[in-house]
Amino acid sequence: MDHFSYKNGTLHAEAVPVDAIAAEHGTPTYIYSNATLTRHFQVFDGAFSDLDHAICYAVKANDNHEILKRLGALGAGADCVSAGEIMRSIKAGIDPSNIVFSGVGKQPWEIEYGIKQNIMQFNVESEPELELLSSIAASLGATAKIAFRVNPDVDAGTHDKIATGRQGDKFGIAYDDALRLYNKAATLDGIEVQSVAVHIGSQLTNLEPFRQAFTKIKDLVIQLREAGHNITHLDLGGGLGIPYKKDIPPSPSAYGQMVKEVLGDIGCKLVFEPGRLIVGNAGILLSKVIFLKETYHGRKFLIIDAAMNDLIRPTLYDAYHDIVPSVEFDHTTDVFPTDIVGPVCETGDVFGKDRELPTMKADDLIAIRSCGAYGSVMACSYNTRPLPAEVLVDGDEVIVLRKRQSLDELLAR
Ligand SMILES: *Cc1c(COP(=O)(O)O)cnc(C)c1O
Repeated sequence: MDHFSYKNGTLHAEAVPVDAIAAEHGTPTYIYSNATLTRHFQVFDGAFSDLDHAICYAVKANDNHEILKRLGALGAGADCVSAGEIMRSIKAGIDPSNIVFSGVGKQPWEIEYGIKQNIMQFNVESEPELELLSSIAASLGATAKIAFRVNPDVDAGTHDKIATGRQGDKFGIAYDDALRLYNKAATLDGIEVQSVAVHIGSQLTNLEPFRQAFTKIKDLVIQLREAGHNITHLDLGGGLGIPYKKDIPPSPSAYGQMVKEVLGDIGCKLVFEPGRLIVGNAGILLSKVIFLKETYHGRKFLIIDAAMNDLIRPTLYDAYHDIVPSVEFDHTTDVFPTDIVGPVCETGDVFGKDRELPTMKADDLIAIRSCGAYGSVMACSYNTRPLPAEVLVDGDEVIVLRKRQSLDELLAR
């Protein structure tokens, strides 16, 4: 559920008509809904209210300062994949004791920064990373608390580019090597083993791969405890999918139920790293029609002022996004199959093909839905296009989170 809907025939973000936002802030503009953001966090958190748990929001999904600040105020920690993300999270008021550091390629300066901030945990993804972490922590006279991220060799059944838990993927350590590496870690200076981490992919729409992975992790925890390791935490990653089309993925409560079935009696603090689920449907990308043109056999192209540099998901992941005009229309009449495309000089710069839309004209507004996650964070200035504006709507208030980049700013770089 989100708070972008038609009222009196006009698309609104909470109480604000999107055409008012376009008039004030221009297009393309990312619009976030505070009520949606808050609701998604609370629904996910609520699914674990009877367990010792922490929610470390995956910052890479949307790293905007105000969004981090608001999630932090709701009780979120942060899952970070760079020192930069750790810095952002701390600046937004998230306590380092609620920050985990993931990623396959942590550099020495990033590790040193994380140790000095005394973060909750490093999720170690390889033997050389373990050795580097040990030597840096020891040289600082500190102790780094760690999990190994274990690759359970489970196919998440999601898009190839966002499946992370198969044998051939770069992430994590091999399941069969885990006991050896935990034993080694226990002998190293500056390292304290506390957890096992797993994250098998993103936009999962089926609970079975999670269940398989978590069952393997449970078996591993039992083995590790038999070998004398004190496993007090489990980090179960993120990955729960959101509705992009009409299909509805498992709810947070169904996911929570499955987690409790598999791990309810493991006696660990459970850490979750949702990203997309929290912010995905809390954002839309508002854009304006430049031209409607027809080519061979009457094919209709709606050319809009947003492009793949603003939102790369359709191009990169073949992602489907719902696309709707700002003016409500009758789906049963006066609609035509239309391709919605951006101005960038790439054939792949397509947001949607053969969508049933009414005839639109220059300056009409159109919204691409479900853009809160992996949207603005991946924006770039390809084709010398300035970065889009970002605003947050809270009731009837519109707060600018990032001003549109000016061409002067872009050229100055
Ligand atoms: C990207 C990522 C997440 C978040 O995934 P979502 O699908 O957005 O929930 C969580 N943990 C790790 C380690 C990640 O890389």
